[in-house]
Amino acid sequence: MITVRTACPEFISDIGDMLRLFLGDVQIVETGGAADYEHAAVEADGRIADRWTCGARSRERSQPIPAGTPVQIRRARKRQVKMALYELLRESTGMRPPWGALTGIRPTRLLYEGLDMGLTMEEARARVMREFDVSADRADLLCEIADMQRGVREPEPGSFDLYIGIPFCRTRCSYCSFSSGEIGRNGKLVAPYVEALLREIAGSAELMREAGLRVRAAYVGGGTPTAISCGDLERILAAAREEFPGAVEWTVEAGRPDTIDREKLLMLRRMEIGRISVNPQTFSDETLARVGRAHTGADTVAAYELARKLGFDDVNMDLIAALPGETPEVFSATLEKVVALDPESVTVHSLAIKRSSKLHEQLHVSGAGHTQVSAAGAAEMIAAARARLTAAGWRPYYLYRQKYMAGNLENVGYAKPGRACLYNIGNMEETASVLALGAGGISKWLFGGRDLRIERAANLKSIEEYVGRVDEMIERKRRLILPEGR
Ligand code: SF4
Repeated sequence: MITVRTACPEFISDIGDMLRLFLGDVQIVETGGAADYEHAAVEADGRIADRWTCGARSRERSQPIPAGTPVQIRRARKRQVKMALYELLRESTGMRPPWGALTGIRPTRLLYEGLDMGLTMEEARARVMREFDVSADRADLLCEIADMQRGVREPEPGSFDLYIGIPFCRTRCSYCSFSSGEIGRNGKLVAPYVEALLREIAGSAELMREAGLRVRAAYVGGGTPTAISCGDLERILAAAREEFPGAVEWTVEAGRPDTIDREKLLMLRRMEIGRISVNPQTFSDETLARVGRAHTGADTVAAYELARKLGFDDVNMDLIAALPGETPEVFSATLEKVVALDPESVTVHSLAIKRSSKLHEQLHVSGAGHTQVSAAGAAEMIAAARARLTAAGWRPYYLYRQKYMAGNLENVGYAKPGRACLYNIGNMEETASVLALGAGGISKWLFGGRDLRIERAANLKSIEEYVGRVDEMIERKRRLILPEGR
């Protein structure tokens, strides 16, 4: 437990993120009295100084009192409070995180901020290194991503992207924190869920027609959409394709290879699904068994080859670096297999062990004997993925970070030129409005031009509650997208 006293309690959540960046997953307690970390803010002569103290050490930063809109003032204040703390932590721990002081999930935003100010790519790169202490290597990654996103980052006005969630899996992977239903245990929920989803598809499509908006890219994710029966999935896709015509991209996460068969792949072809994901995560059978995935590496190869044979020419593969017990050598063997299979895109995740996952319990509570990969090992794997994939012709095209991620690293989507997934870019960069259907879906709507603001409407997470209250989910979207007088 770490105690904190701050002159800016409105930033306590960001202060907590910064402390965890260096100190790990610690509990942060705010106090008005003496604390481990103490922050004072002092105004004098048109400037404001933030001083952080921990024991005998202290660091101070000063800036002119910020002016501008409330949002700009808040951002400037928050950055200085965080940077002063970052410098203190960097000095006292001797650590230098690869993303410097960035704790948010979208580091590309800082590069685009510089470009929007009129800086060249090189100047914007220098700015993220100078102002946020981002390493040269990660700053290069941001520039490569911006390069891949050129021309496809922002959708045409009047369009939106569509997400349809199918929150079922056959069994649960030990690292999963997603609130999906296990079909084995909860299969009775699938039929009512499909009916509710069909209702939400029809009701939301009506809303989009009223608003005069058209779909650009659609993504069917999970759970594992292919975990439900071929007939159920076909009904959902047929309804969605009819109600939301004209999308230039349709992705279905076929996800776990043990849910993919000839019948489902043929149905996906009939539904004109252009892009699918077949996710190995790792090709090590020992690791797959350890994390509770009920398939082997050979099953992944068979599912992938079948998809190729049936005509799929845009396939993504997801990998996870730092799965328990894996060494850089095991991870490299997985990379070599992926390079040999040659999918159009590869997404490399860094393992994020959330508290609600079984793996968290196994590693930290029951001591089930799994070995957690060190931060250095995770970093080595992520670096190997970037080097190997870029050498073989893939380019990074989107990036996001999560809390609790091994080694404070990142998730990166790589694609062959021209194969970047539009939905992933629009969603991660928050440049596209997203209409999200299904339990747990969060619709995000963009309003305004330069003064962009994003509003959200969340669907209920619980499958049972979603089914019972689906009309209310449609109504929430109406209020988000077509509020009175907007
Ligand atoms: S396939 Fe994905 S959503 Fe399903 S249990 Fe595994 S990690 Fe969770």
